[in-house]
Amino acid sequence: MKDKYGRLIKYLRLSVTDLCNYRCIYCMPEDGINKKSHSDILSIEELTAIAKASYELGINKIRLTGGEPLLRKGIITLCENIRSLSPDIELSITTNGSMLPSMAAKLKAAGVDRLNISLDTLGKESFRRITRKGELSEALYGIKAAQDAGFDNIKINTVLLGGINDSEVMSLIELTRDNPIQLRFIELMPIGYSKTLDKSMFITVKNIESLLMGADYTVDGVARVFRFKGYSGSIGLISPISHSFCHKCDKIRVTADGKLKPCLHSDIEYDLRGLNGEELKAAIKKAVLNKPLYHQLDTIGSEAVRNMNEIGG
Ligand code: SAM
Ligand code: SF4
Repeated sequence: MKDKYGRLIKYLRLSVTDLCNYRCIYCMPEDGINKKSHSDILSIEELTAIAKASYELGINKIRLTGGEPLLRKGIITLCENIRSLSPDIELSITTNGSMLPSMAAKLKAAGVDRLNISLDTLGKESFRRITRKGELSEALYGIKAAQDAGFDNIKINTVLLGGINDSEVMSLIELTRDNPIQLRFIELMPIGYSKTLDKSMFITVKNIESLLMGADYTVDGVARVFRFKGYSGSIGLISPISHSFCHKCDKIRVTADGKLKPCLHSDIEYDLRGLNGEELKAAIKKAVLNKPLYHQLDTIGSEAVRNMNEIGG
Protein backbone atom coordinates (compact mmCIF):
# COMPACT_ATOMS: atom_id res chain seq x y z
CA MET A 1 0.00 0.00 0.00
CA LYS A 2 1.33 3.40 -0.97
CA ASP A 3 -0.01 6.76 0.10
CA LYS A 4 -0.50 9.58 -2.38
CA TYR A 5 3.04 10.82 -1.74
CA GLY A 6 4.51 7.43 -2.66
CA ARG A 7 5.36 6.34 0.89
CA LEU A 8 5.12 2.55 1.30
CA ILE A 9 2.93 1.76 4.34
CA LYS A 10 4.03 -1.46 6.03
CA TYR A 11 3.57 -0.91 9.75
CA LEU A 12 0.37 -1.08 11.84
CA ARG A 13 0.21 -0.02 15.48
CA LEU A 14 -2.86 -1.55 17.04
CA SER A 15 -4.06 -0.20 20.38
CA VAL A 16 -5.81 -2.99 22.28
CA THR A 17 -6.99 -0.99 25.31
CA ASP A 18 -6.91 2.59 26.58
CA LEU A 19 -6.68 1.44 30.20
CA CYS A 20 -3.46 1.35 32.20
CA ASN A 21 -2.22 0.50 35.67
CA TYR A 22 0.08 3.57 35.55
CA ARG A 23 -0.73 7.25 35.07
CA CYS A 24 2.44 8.62 33.43
CA ILE A 25 2.64 12.38 33.69
CA TYR A 26 2.99 12.81 29.90
CA CYS A 27 0.27 10.37 28.94
CA MET A 28 -2.78 10.47 31.20
CA PRO A 29 -4.42 12.70 33.79
CA GLU A 30 -3.70 11.79 37.43
CA ASP A 31 -7.25 10.64 38.12
CA GLY A 32 -7.20 8.36 35.07
CA ILE A 33 -9.80 8.24 32.33
CA ASN A 34 -13.48 7.41 32.09
CA LYS A 35 -13.66 3.69 31.52
CA LYS A 36 -15.33 3.00 28.18
CA SER A 37 -17.98 0.32 28.09
CA HIS A 38 -16.86 -3.10 26.90
CA SER A 39 -18.72 -2.67 23.60
CA ASP A 40 -16.91 0.60 22.80
CA ILE A 41 -13.59 -1.22 22.58
CA LEU A 42 -12.63 -3.45 19.65
CA SER A 43 -13.17 -7.13 20.42
CA ILE A 44 -10.39 -9.68 19.91
CA GLU A 45 -12.25 -10.81 16.75
CA GLU A 46 -12.38 -7.25 15.40
CA LEU A 47 -8.70 -6.67 16.20
CA THR A 48 -7.85 -9.92 14.41
CA ALA A 49 -9.94 -8.92 11.38
CA ILE A 50 -8.15 -5.54 11.16
CA ALA A 51 -4.76 -7.27 11.42
CA LYS A 52 -5.77 -9.76 8.72
CA ALA A 53 -7.09 -7.12 6.30
CA SER A 54 -3.96 -5.00 6.86
CA TYR A 55 -1.67 -7.98 6.28
CA GLU A 56 -3.49 -8.79 3.04
CA LEU A 57 -2.93 -5.18 1.98
CA GLY A 58 0.83 -5.41 2.52
CA ILE A 59 1.37 -4.64 6.22
CA ASN A 60 4.21 -6.86 7.50
CA LYS A 61 4.91 -5.32 10.88
CA ILE A 62 2.28 -5.16 13.65
CA ARG A 63 2.82 -3.65 17.09
CA LEU A 64 0.29 -4.10 19.91
CA THR A 65 0.11 -1.16 22.27
CA GLY A 66 -2.31 0.73 24.49
CA GLY A 67 -2.89 1.83 27.35
CA GLU A 68 -1.15 -1.16 28.79
CA PRO A 69 -1.64 -3.96 26.24
CA LEU A 70 -0.82 -6.75 28.69
CA LEU A 71 -3.86 -5.81 30.78
CA ARG A 72 -6.12 -6.62 27.85
CA LYS A 73 -8.11 -9.83 28.31
CA GLY A 74 -7.47 -12.10 25.35
CA ILE A 75 -4.09 -10.58 24.45
CA ILE A 76 -2.46 -14.02 24.14
CA THR A 77 -5.23 -15.22 21.80
CA LEU A 78 -4.82 -12.07 19.71
CA CYS A 79 -1.06 -12.71 19.41
CA GLU A 80 -1.73 -16.32 18.37
CA ASN A 81 -4.31 -15.17 15.82
CA ILE A 82 -1.90 -12.66 14.28
CA ARG A 83 0.93 -15.18 14.21
CA SER A 84 -1.33 -17.70 12.47
CA LEU A 85 -1.84 -15.20 9.61
CA SER A 86 1.80 -15.61 8.62
CA PRO A 87 5.17 -16.57 10.10
CA ASP A 88 6.61 -13.54 8.28
CA ILE A 89 4.73 -10.81 10.16
CA GLU A 90 7.02 -9.03 12.62
CA LEU A 91 4.87 -8.99 15.76
CA SER A 92 5.91 -6.76 18.64
CA ILE A 93 4.45 -5.22 21.78
CA THR A 94 5.14 -1.97 23.63
CA THR A 95 4.59 -2.41 27.36
CA ASN A 96 5.42 -0.80 30.69
CA GLY A 97 6.78 -4.24 31.65
CA SER A 98 4.87 -4.63 34.90
CA MET A 99 3.01 -7.75 33.77
CA LEU A 100 5.96 -9.43 32.08
CA PRO A 101 7.03 -11.62 35.03
CA SER A 102 3.81 -13.62 34.62
CA MET A 103 3.34 -13.16 30.87
CA ALA A 104 6.68 -13.05 29.04
CA ALA A 105 6.90 -16.81 28.42
CA LYS A 106 3.27 -16.98 27.22
CA LEU A 107 3.87 -14.09 24.80
CA LYS A 108 6.94 -15.82 23.43
CA ALA A 109 4.99 -19.05 22.95
CA ALA A 110 2.17 -17.11 21.24
CA GLY A 111 4.60 -15.93 18.57
CA VAL A 112 5.59 -12.43 19.69
CA ASP A 113 8.96 -11.53 18.13
CA ARG A 114 10.04 -8.44 20.02
CA LEU A 115 9.25 -6.27 23.03
CA ASN A 116 9.72 -2.57 23.68
CA ILE A 117 9.69 -1.88 27.42
CA SER A 118 9.29 1.65 28.79
CA LEU A 119 11.80 2.80 31.40
CA ASP A 120 12.41 6.52 31.86
CA THR A 121 14.60 6.49 34.95
CA LEU A 122 16.73 4.33 37.24
CA GLY A 123 15.65 6.27 40.33
CA LYS A 124 12.93 4.83 42.58
CA GLU A 125 11.54 8.25 43.46
CA SER A 126 11.57 9.59 39.94
CA PHE A 127 9.97 6.37 38.62
CA ARG A 128 7.07 6.91 40.98
CA ARG A 129 6.94 10.61 40.12
CA ILE A 130 6.75 9.86 36.39
CA THR A 131 4.36 6.89 36.48
CA ARG A 132 2.44 8.13 39.54
CA LYS A 133 1.49 4.52 40.38
CA GLY A 134 4.40 2.29 39.40
CA GLU A 135 7.49 0.91 41.14
CA LEU A 136 10.92 0.83 39.50
CA SER A 137 11.34 -2.82 40.51
CA GLU A 138 8.31 -3.77 38.36
CA ALA A 139 9.97 -2.49 35.18
CA LEU A 140 13.35 -4.03 36.09
CA TYR A 141 11.81 -7.44 36.89
CA GLY A 142 9.84 -7.12 33.66
CA ILE A 143 12.99 -6.63 31.59
CA LYS A 144 14.66 -9.57 33.35
CA ALA A 145 11.59 -11.78 32.79
CA ALA A 146 11.56 -10.90 29.08
CA GLN A 147 15.23 -11.81 28.73
CA ASP A 148 14.72 -15.06 30.67
CA ALA A 149 11.83 -15.96 28.35
CA GLY A 150 14.21 -15.72 25.39
CA PHE A 151 13.36 -12.27 24.00
CA ASP A 152 16.42 -10.72 22.44
CA ASN A 153 16.59 -7.36 20.66
CA ILE A 154 14.67 -5.78 23.55
CA LYS A 155 14.25 -2.04 23.11
CA ILE A 156 13.91 0.22 26.11
CA ASN A 157 11.83 3.36 25.49
CA THR A 158 13.04 6.33 27.50
CA VAL A 159 11.17 9.61 27.12
CA LEU A 160 13.52 12.53 27.76
CA LEU A 161 12.04 14.74 30.47
CA GLY A 162 13.77 18.03 31.23
CA GLY A 163 14.35 18.49 34.97
CA ILE A 164 13.38 14.86 35.69
CA ASN A 165 15.64 12.37 33.91
CA ASP A 166 18.02 14.52 31.82
CA SER A 167 20.69 14.27 34.53
CA GLU A 168 20.56 10.46 34.26
CA VAL A 169 21.42 10.16 30.59
CA MET A 170 24.97 8.88 31.23
CA SER A 171 23.83 6.20 33.72
CA LEU A 172 21.11 5.10 31.30
CA ILE A 173 23.66 4.87 28.47
CA GLU A 174 25.85 2.75 30.76
CA LEU A 175 23.06 0.13 30.80
CA THR A 176 24.11 -0.72 27.25
CA ARG A 177 27.65 -1.67 28.31
CA ASP A 178 26.73 -5.18 29.50
CA ASN A 179 23.12 -5.50 28.35
CA PRO A 180 22.26 -6.47 24.78
CA ILE A 181 19.43 -3.92 24.63
CA GLN A 182 18.73 -0.89 22.47
CA LEU A 183 18.04 2.06 24.76
CA ARG A 184 15.98 4.62 22.83
CA PHE A 185 15.79 8.23 23.94
CA ILE A 186 12.53 9.71 22.65
CA GLU A 187 11.62 13.38 22.56
CA LEU A 188 8.58 14.26 24.64
CA MET A 189 5.74 15.19 22.27
CA PRO A 190 3.12 17.82 23.07
CA ILE A 191 0.08 15.72 22.33
CA GLY A 192 -3.24 15.54 24.21
CA TYR A 193 -2.66 15.75 27.95
CA SER A 194 1.10 16.39 27.62
CA LYS A 195 0.37 19.80 26.02
CA THR A 196 -0.31 21.02 29.58
CA LEU A 197 3.22 20.15 30.80
CA ASP A 198 5.77 22.81 31.63
CA LYS A 199 7.81 23.92 28.58
CA SER A 200 11.05 23.15 30.44
CA MET A 201 10.26 19.43 30.23
CA PHE A 202 10.45 19.44 26.43
CA ILE A 203 14.11 18.95 25.60
CA THR A 204 15.72 17.76 22.41
CA VAL A 205 17.82 14.64 21.90
CA LYS A 206 20.43 16.96 20.34
CA ASN A 207 21.66 17.42 23.94
CA ILE A 208 22.70 13.77 23.94
CA GLU A 209 24.49 13.67 20.61
CA SER A 210 27.73 15.08 22.05
CA LEU A 211 27.83 12.20 24.57
CA LEU A 212 27.83 9.71 21.72
CA MET A 213 30.89 10.99 19.87
CA GLY A 214 33.18 8.16 18.87
CA ALA A 215 30.39 5.57 18.81
CA ASP A 216 29.60 3.62 15.62
CA TYR A 217 26.52 4.96 13.83
CA THR A 218 23.70 3.30 11.87
CA VAL A 219 20.03 3.96 11.14
CA ASP A 220 17.24 1.62 12.28
CA GLY A 221 13.85 2.80 10.98
CA VAL A 222 13.14 6.17 12.59
CA ALA A 223 16.01 5.83 15.09
CA ARG A 224 19.59 7.00 14.70
CA VAL A 225 21.54 4.25 16.46
CA PHE A 226 24.94 4.51 18.20
CA ARG A 227 27.07 1.73 19.64
CA PHE A 228 30.28 2.13 21.63
CA LYS A 229 33.09 -0.32 20.84
CA GLY A 230 32.93 -3.29 23.20
CA TYR A 231 29.39 -2.51 24.43
CA SER A 232 26.75 -5.25 24.19
CA GLY A 233 23.88 -2.85 23.53
CA SER A 234 23.19 0.32 21.56
CA ILE A 235 21.62 3.75 21.99
CA GLY A 236 18.84 5.01 19.71
CA LEU A 237 17.76 8.62 19.30
CA ILE A 238 14.18 9.26 18.18
CA SER A 239 13.54 12.89 17.47
CA PRO A 240 10.04 13.55 16.12
CA ILE A 241 10.41 17.26 16.88
CA SER A 242 14.02 18.25 16.23
CA HIS A 243 14.58 15.84 13.34
CA SER A 244 11.19 15.06 11.80
CA PHE A 245 10.96 11.73 9.97
CA CYS A 246 7.55 12.24 8.26
CA HIS A 247 9.08 11.79 4.81
CA LYS A 248 9.83 8.16 5.61
CA CYS A 249 6.84 7.42 7.84
CA ASP A 250 5.49 3.94 7.05
CA LYS A 251 2.91 3.70 9.87
CA ILE A 252 -0.79 3.71 10.45
CA ARG A 253 -2.46 3.46 13.86
CA VAL A 254 -5.76 2.06 15.06
CA THR A 255 -7.17 3.28 18.38
CA ALA A 256 -8.76 0.92 20.89
CA ASP A 257 -12.21 2.17 19.84
CA GLY A 258 -11.57 1.32 16.19
CA LYS A 259 -10.51 4.58 14.53
CA LEU A 260 -7.70 4.42 11.98
CA LYS A 261 -5.34 7.38 12.36
CA PRO A 262 -3.13 7.83 9.29
CA CYS A 263 -0.97 10.30 11.26
CA LEU A 264 -0.28 10.41 15.00
CA HIS A 265 -0.49 14.21 15.09
CA SER A 266 -3.56 14.77 12.96
CA ASP A 267 -7.16 14.65 14.18
CA ILE A 268 -8.22 12.89 10.95
CA GLU A 269 -9.65 9.47 11.78
CA TYR A 270 -11.47 6.75 9.80
CA ASP A 271 -13.97 4.55 11.62
CA LEU A 272 -13.33 0.86 10.99
CA ARG A 273 -16.04 -0.52 13.27
CA GLY A 274 -18.73 -2.63 11.69
CA LEU A 275 -16.65 -3.19 8.54
CA ASN A 276 -15.57 -6.59 7.27
CA GLY A 277 -13.86 -8.19 4.29
CA GLU A 278 -13.56 -5.96 1.20
CA GLU A 279 -15.30 -3.00 2.94
CA LEU A 280 -12.72 -3.06 5.71
CA LYS A 281 -9.87 -3.22 3.20
CA ALA A 282 -11.37 -0.33 1.20
CA ALA A 283 -11.55 1.83 4.36
CA ILE A 284 -7.92 1.06 5.24
CA LYS A 285 -6.79 1.87 1.68
CA LYS A 286 -8.73 5.16 1.73
CA ALA A 287 -7.14 6.18 5.04
CA VAL A 288 -3.66 5.33 3.75
CA LEU A 289 -4.22 7.32 0.58
CA ASN A 290 -5.12 10.37 2.67
CA LYS A 291 -2.17 10.16 5.04
CA PRO A 292 -0.99 13.72 5.73
CA LEU A 293 2.44 14.60 4.34
CA TYR A 294 3.90 15.93 7.59
CA HIS A 295 3.06 17.10 11.11
CA GLN A 296 3.68 20.60 12.42
CA LEU A 297 4.92 19.73 15.89
CA ASP A 298 7.69 22.32 15.78
CA THR A 299 5.35 25.19 14.76
CA ILE A 300 1.65 24.90 15.58
CA GLY A 301 1.96 21.67 17.59
CA SER A 302 -0.03 18.44 17.43
CA GLU A 303 -3.60 18.62 16.16
CA ALA A 304 -4.44 15.29 17.79
CA VAL A 305 -7.14 15.69 20.40
CA ARG A 306 -6.64 12.34 22.10
CA ASN A 307 -4.23 11.41 24.88
CA MET A 308 -1.39 8.96 24.15
CA ASN A 309 -3.03 6.15 26.13
CA GLU A 310 -5.84 6.16 23.52
CA ILE A 311 -3.51 6.18 20.52
CA GLY A 312 -0.71 3.96 21.71
CA GLY A 313 2.37 6.07 21.05
N1 SAM B 1 1.77 1.32 28.27
C1 SAM B 1 2.76 0.95 27.33
C2 SAM B 1 4.07 1.66 27.63
O1 SAM B 1 4.06 2.63 28.38
O2 SAM B 1 5.08 1.24 27.10
C3 SAM B 1 2.36 1.19 25.90
C4 SAM B 1 1.59 2.43 25.57
S1 SAM B 1 2.51 3.95 25.71
C5 SAM B 1 1.32 5.15 25.20
C6 SAM B 1 3.64 3.81 24.35
C7 SAM B 1 4.87 4.68 24.42
O3 SAM B 1 4.48 6.04 24.26
C8 SAM B 1 5.62 4.60 25.74
O4 SAM B 1 6.98 4.28 25.49
C9 SAM B 1 5.50 5.99 26.31
O5 SAM B 1 6.63 6.36 27.05
C10 SAM B 1 5.33 6.83 25.06
N2 SAM B 1 4.68 8.12 25.28
C11 SAM B 1 3.51 8.36 25.92
N3 SAM B 1 3.22 9.69 25.90
C12 SAM B 1 4.23 10.29 25.22
C13 SAM B 1 4.52 11.66 24.84
N4 SAM B 1 3.70 12.65 25.16
N5 SAM B 1 5.66 11.90 24.14
C14 SAM B 1 6.51 10.88 23.80
N6 SAM B 1 6.28 9.59 24.12
C15 SAM B 1 5.17 9.29 24.82
FE1 SF4 C 1 0.29 3.71 30.86
FE2 SF4 C 1 2.11 3.58 28.98
FE3 SF4 C 1 0.60 5.79 29.25
FE4 SF4 C 1 2.42 5.21 31.08
S1 SF4 C 1 2.83 5.69 28.92
S2 SF4 C 1 0.27 5.84 31.47
S3 SF4 C 1 2.41 3.03 31.14
S4 SF4 C 1 -0.12 3.81 28.66
